[in-house]
Amino acid sequence: MINVAILGSTGSIGTQTLQVLQHLPGYRIYGLSAYSDIQSLSTQIKKFQPQMVVVNDYDAAQQLRGRFNIRTAHGETGLVELASDPEVDLVVMAVVGFAALAPTLKALEAGKKVALASKEALVVGGHLLSPYRSQIMPIDSEHCAICQILEGKNPEAVDSIILTASGGPFFSQPQDLSTVTAEQALQHPTWNMGGKISIDSATLMNKGLEVIEAHWLYSLSYDQIEVVIHPQSVVHSLVRFIDGSILAQLADADMRLPIQYALTYPKLEPSLVAKLDLTSLAELTFIKYDPSRFPCLELAVKAGRAGGTMPAALNAANEVAVTSFLEGKIVFPEIAELVKAVISDHRLVFEPDLQQLIAADADARAKAYDLVMQRGRKG
Ligand code: MG
Repeated sequence: MINVAILGSTGSIGTQTLQVLQHLPGYRIYGLSAYSDIQSLSTQIKKFQPQMVVVNDYDAAQQLRGRFNIRTAHGETGLVELASDPEVDLVVMAVVGFAALAPTLKALEAGKKVALASKEALVVGGHLLSPYRSQIMPIDSEHCAICQILEGKNPEAVDSIILTASGGPFFSQPQDLSTVTAEQALQHPTWNMGGKISIDSATLMNKGLEVIEAHWLYSLSYDQIEVVIHPQSVVHSLVRFIDGSILAQLADADMRLPIQYALTYPKLEPSLVAKLDLTSLAELTFIKYDPSRFPCLELAVKAGRAGGTMPAALNAANEVAVTSFLEGKIVFPEIAELVKAVISDHRLVFEPDLQQLIAADADARAKAYDLVMQRGRKG
């Protein structure tokens, strides 16, 4: 039996991971964590009978312990405790944002295999996580596609990789992005995802974060990573080889495929994903993206190239900007403006350790909040 800990079990990736695990033999749900959705977590505890659960709040953890007679922990130390528990073999990391970094690092240091949905951890701390590359499997459809294509290939035969982006809900319209609402931004055309990543997809920041993620996962230079808009989300990514050929991976847009690939790697198993009917596809299109309309992608690549603490500043500013947009405090184009202002002002530290990354994150977050407040007063 493989003991699995799912950090972020009540979110979109967490619930789909539980679906996948229910149909796979040989896995036991050892631990679950949720930030604050105690109701969903309670339902999961009853159904999957884990040994341990972690929540953000101390009182909520105490209540769960009393109610279910189960081992509990809370906060970030709780996440680290679960992720590095000696009984755990495999950690599914689906905590949103910077909070995923420390537990991911501790899980890797403890020798765990990590199925990593929290791309922010690699974006911010790629240099700390990359020595453990062989223990990491990405839960990200594009990177899963690249992993599948590169399987058994000589790295020297790779010219570049091409990440596909759906373009999000506003790729072609409306013209004026300052009028779009949070509700519209959350309506992704092809994927069903959590709130943070849906907004990141609408701004194309998600693709920028994925470029940085790919840089660390495949040891590629930023010049070797291309992005193309592919609105149908059928081709999940491609690899260009030195002989001029391009290989692609195609599948139904269903996260349960990359989740399962990360869980069972290097084995392939039948999955819950619908078979793709090629004859039902009207067309597959590939379009250049417009950086003047979606500046976040370029900002992210710029931060990735700068390295050091710059991606941490970018990520922190983006997390604050996304939350502020969802709360109606800033308009959609201000997400990019806010991120740009924070990274322009950031004092770069090279080769940061975890503490320096935490400091850079906190500093950028505080600056971003200040800017949101200033804008609120103006508006
Ligand atoms: Mg993706």
